[in-house]
This record gives sequence, structure tokens and C-alpha cells, in this order.
Amino acid sequence: MSGRLGGPVRTCIGCRERAERTALVRMVAKRDESGQFAWVVTPDVNHSSSGRGAHLHPDARCLDQARRRRAFGRALRVEGSLDLSPMEELAKTWPH
Ligand SMILES: [Zn+2]
Repeated sequence: MSGRLGGPVRTCIGCRERAERTALVRMVAKRDESGQFAWVVTPDVNHSSSGRGAHLHPDARCLDQARRRRAFGRALRVEGSLDLSPMEELAKTWPH
């Protein structure tokens, strides 16, 4: 057996490809305490936050695609303005 099947599989909201959950970054929407935005999209690095999550490859192109497609609000089931800066900060640490 050469395939690595068996782990939970999720869809990247950027490129829409399916991947093992462990290969994707999970993110959740949290209420913006500052009131500047409706929601803050925050990486859930420990996979510990409850609630609805969305998944993305750790790849700036997937982040871009998801943003262009306005996939965050849809995937996270939230409406209103979204602060993506925590994701953009995280994206700076991703390999290019
Ligand atoms: Zn992707």
C-alpha cells in the first residue's frame, strides 16, 4: 500500500482541492472585539476552537483565491466585513 488514506479529508477553500486535514490550516471566525470589522478570521493552529471552521492550504495562492472568491464568509457561515489580517500575517511564514 503506497497511498496514505484514512485521515480526515477537507476541501481547501482556495483551490477547492481535497487534502488531508493535517495538511491544511484550519481557521475560525471570531467576533472582532475592536468593532472595526464584523469578524476576524483567525488561524486555529491547535485545531482546538469549536464552531465552524474552514480549511486552506498553507499557500499564499490559495489565500488569494479564497479572498477573490469571497470564500471565507461562505465557508465560515458569517456575514459582514471580515478581517483577514491574522491569515495574512500567517501567510508571511509560508514558503513561497
Ligand atoms: Zn489550496
